[in-house]
Amino acid sequence: MKSVVLVKIDYKGNPCLITQFGSFFQYFFEFNGELYGDFMDFRPNFKRWILWKLGLEKELYSEQEKKDAQDLIVDVIVRSVDLLNSPEKRAEVEKKRQSLLTRKRYARDSKCFWQTRSGEDKEPRYYCLLHDIEIPFTEEYPKHD
Ligand SMILES: [Zn+2]
Repeated sequence: MKSVVLVKIDYKGNPCLITQFGSFFQYFFEFNGELYGDFMDFRPNFKRWILWKLGLEKELYSEQEKKDAQDLIVDVIVRSVDLLNSPEKRAEVEKKRQSLLTRKRYARDSKCFWQTRSGEDKEPRYYCLLHDIEIPFTEEYPKHD
């Protein structure tokens, strides 16, 4: 059994993909360079499932069932993208970005926090835990740019 691409769409400039793997319908979409996705399990008609298992039915779903599943998923994608585009969500993302910038600024302005380590060559090194920078061991007090 292999995964089949059912449909590729573009919603408001965000590429979306729906695939089917047995009874699992998976969707992915890209939003602002991030990948989102989930899957849904649609229970097939029991009789059809038996026939499919026996190899007497090629498709697990009728065309209509497959179309209904697709429509449902497209609806979920549309709602998700709209939610991500909503002013509330944008405000939340902006707040997160700001706090990240604050943290970066804090890290830049703060004093280093040194740890001595030995490298792969067993030579001692200084490692700044705060800025994630490693420098060779010195007799002086360590510092980095
Ligand atoms: Zn540092």
